[in-house]
Amino acid sequence: MKREETKAIRIGDRWIGGGNPIAIQSMTNTKTEDVKATVEQILKLEAAGCEIIRCAVPTMEAAEALREIKKQIHIPLVADIHFDYRLAIAAIEHGADKIRINPGNIGDSSRVRAVVDKAKEYKVPIRVGVNSGSLEKSLIEKYGGVTAEGIVESALDKVRMIEEMDYDQIVVSIKSSDVLMCVKAHELISEVCPYPLHIGITESGTLLSGNIKSSVGLGIMLYQGLGDTIRVSLTGDPLEEIKSAKLILKTLGLRKGGIEVVSCPTCGRTKIDLIGLANQVETMVADIPLDIKVAVMGCVVNGPGEAREADIGIAGGIGEGLLIKKGEVIKKVKEEELLSTLREELLNWKG
Ligand code: SF4
Repeated sequence: MKREETKAIRIGDRWIGGGNPIAIQSMTNTKTEDVKATVEQILKLEAAGCEIIRCAVPTMEAAEALREIKKQIHIPLVADIHFDYRLAIAAIEHGADKIRINPGNIGDSSRVRAVVDKAKEYKVPIRVGVNSGSLEKSLIEKYGGVTAEGIVESALDKVRMIEEMDYDQIVVSIKSSDVLMCVKAHELISEVCPYPLHIGITESGTLLSGNIKSSVGLGIMLYQGLGDTIRVSLTGDPLEEIKSAKLILKTLGLRKGGIEVVSCPTCGRTKIDLIGLANQVETMVADIPLDIKVAVMGCVVNGPGEAREADIGIAGGIGEGLLIKKGEVIKKVKEEELLSTLREELLNWKG
């Protein structure tokens, strides 16, 4: 179902699905048992805009650490569990707001039932996670390989198993590192599944390839109205995941707020260090709570025109630049003072 029509599910104090705003998620890469390091990372992610955080729970010590972590953070926490159903039960008892399991790898149905019963008792939703890399052999044989259809059938089997245990607080995630397979699987499952979808391209790679694959995959799905929560998976600092997720949502018009920086690609006419300046501007505006467009342009040929279309812009000259606000040149500034002058203008922005 499209995101307006999916079932609304509560995770801690946040609702997802049912047309609620798309939530940005990330996952810690600290040892969850190390409460201090994990809390520090979550607080940084919160400040950057992370709205739901997932922590790996590979040990009983990690499950127990959740209670202390929860006391020190402000966003819902999802416990990620594989193989051991007792860890899922302990994570719920220690305050997890949602658990992520693959019912296919935590044992027989009595173990799944024990987890579902505990989730029911604590009113904690279950995210059913199915990954193309762990697709059942029978489905690989049935579909002649790993396919979108196989991934969907696997996920629906797990969903049905939980529904038959009389529980419907479910979120579904189906992942593949093959972007087009992932898109197709989401298109297929959205036709039959009423639960919110957590979407992302798994194992998408390092900063460059991860961002490109995620932007393409998530972009197609989000544009079609699919996806209630998102994660940009990157082999890198989780903070980068948040920046990318925010930009993807903003680019698609699915989120407002934050300064958008546009900058020219530079060419033979550029006479200032525009690449350096554009990067500095992007970092500088990150903590300014305005919803405007800032242009950083390299020259006086196209620069002023482009800068005029933004709310405020810089057009570079030789060792200096023009500051243009709402189409009017307001200042001529030395190159080395362009960044500080722009920041001053933004901090005193009156629209
Ligand atoms: Fe070149 Fe000027 Fe266009 Fe930048 S704005 S790409 S410097 S012509």
